[in-house]
Amino acid sequence: MNQKALFIIFGGTGDLAYRKLYPALFNLYEKGYLKEDFAVIGTARRPWSNDHYHEVVMSAIEDAGRDSGRTNDDLPRKFANHFYYQSHNVDDVDHYVALRKLADELDEKYQLEGNRIFYLAMAPRFFGTIAGHLKDQQLLTDGDGFNRLIIEKPFGRDYPSAKELNDSISGSFKEEQIFRIDHYLGKEPIQSIAGLRFGNALFNSLWSKEHIDNIQITLAESLGVEERAGYYETAGAMRDMVQNHIMQIVSLLTMERPDVFDPSHLREKKIEAVENIQMYSKEEVDQNFVRGQYGEDEFKTQLAYRDEEGTDDNSQIETFVAGKLITHNPSLDGVPIYIRTGKRLTKKSTQVNIVFKNNDKNIFSDNPDEKLETNVLTMHIEPDQGFTLEFNTKTGNQGYKLSPVHLRYRKTAAEKARIPDAYEGLIRDALAGDKTNFAHWHEVAQAWKIMDVVRNTWDAETPDFPNYVSGSMGPQAADDLLTRDGREWVFNPRK
Ligand code: NAD
Repeated sequence: MNQKALFIIFGGTGDLAYRKLYPALFNLYEKGYLKEDFAVIGTARRPWSNDHYHEVVMSAIEDAGRDSGRTNDDLPRKFANHFYYQSHNVDDVDHYVALRKLADELDEKYQLEGNRIFYLAMAPRFFGTIAGHLKDQQLLTDGDGFNRLIIEKPFGRDYPSAKELNDSISGSFKEEQIFRIDHYLGKEPIQSIAGLRFGNALFNSLWSKEHIDNIQITLAESLGVEERAGYYETAGAMRDMVQNHIMQIVSLLTMERPDVFDPSHLREKKIEAVENIQMYSKEEVDQNFVRGQYGEDEFKTQLAYRDEEGTDDNSQIETFVAGKLITHNPSLDGVPIYIRTGKRLTKKSTQVNIVFKNNDKNIFSDNPDEKLETNVLTMHIEPDQGFTLEFNTKTGNQGYKLSPVHLRYRKTAAEKARIPDAYEGLIRDALAGDKTNFAHWHEVAQAWKIMDVVRNTWDAETPDFPNYVSGSMGPQAADDLLTRDGREWVFNPRK
């Protein structure tokens, strides 16, 4: 099914638009989801002509397609002809008047029936101003067409600033019109968590506090801060990765089963899940959260974070976070969720490990203390995609000995190449009005409240940084967090 709409992209000359949005829109066009009845207005400060804008859009498609070996044909030019550029300063009311005129003309020309998607590919400090002017200058259509707003992270720095940001846009757009992108929710392996849990009797029946011992989530990067030091110095790992991506994964893993798999039921369960994460006191934060910042590697060939270009010599920004969260959702009540993310770790990997309980007596051994290995389900999210199930089976001929084996399923390179980029899927969902893979305000708000307790505790103390060697799996305290509970990280590439 194709969908007609006018896209108005604020920040049309920026990096996000160039690298992600134009290629994603082109893919939707190439696949026929967007036919000829669509138009895009790009706005930003630079005084570009429409012709120049077309060249930029075509070059964005070419750059993105290079890896996939797309052949050159006239489709990119046909696509780019749907793009219109308007020079714009977000504070200038006259520009919104001109924008409305152009939007109305294009609506008429392409028969778009008043369907509008406003994509704010700009810094969040502009969101309120833009949303206010869109309403005041009547860019929001009031017929049968839809008005949808797509916004990007960062959504605030803490709960008060996120609330202020939300209040600033909610005067113009209702919650159901706001599509908050968390691009992790656009990744297929993340979307498949619900299918794995609720589409398989095997896992559905075992997904409970009776059977799950603990859940582990690791988002490990091997690279350092690279060229993002300016942004990172104001954010840190907690704001960059935990409050949004990790908390979304936590709610998908711990939510109760929805009666129906549709956006409203799913979101209700996800909101409940994040609201059922235990709020810590300051003392509990000290016991359950660890922060770190990378130093040099053991051979001193890589810079410490504080020596990277653009960082403060005494920076107290964390490049690593590990923590233990506890869910009080009924079926998993009390199950610990160990989370971990960091830069310059041993190996790049995003994965979830579900560690099952192992209470059965080992009838295969004379030694009553000899425990069977635990069963572990691993969901590989990046760069591998797939699953590993670890279970015990008889091996060897000498007596009846059990050893763990790994049942592996991995998507092939060809299968991975066929999966649409997260932005393509998310824009398609926004066009269809499907909010399954977008963050609701209540989720965002509650995740901030949980993180703010940690942040406030940390901000009151000076950390002893750097405290982990580049190329390790983070500070010792992150391992101690589990050892103390008689557990260990399943993903341990040092082994
Ligand atoms: P960018 O700096 O490359 O682009 C910003 C855009 O805003 C430019 O088009 C610029 O002309 C425009 N702009 C700035 N001030 C303006 C003004 N006063 N009036 C009119 N236009 C103005 O930034 P970006 O990397 O494209 O990121 C945009 C937003 O998306 C940021 O909030 C960023 O955090 C978020 N984001 C970006 C990415 C990414 O991959 N680049 C990923 C996730 C989130």
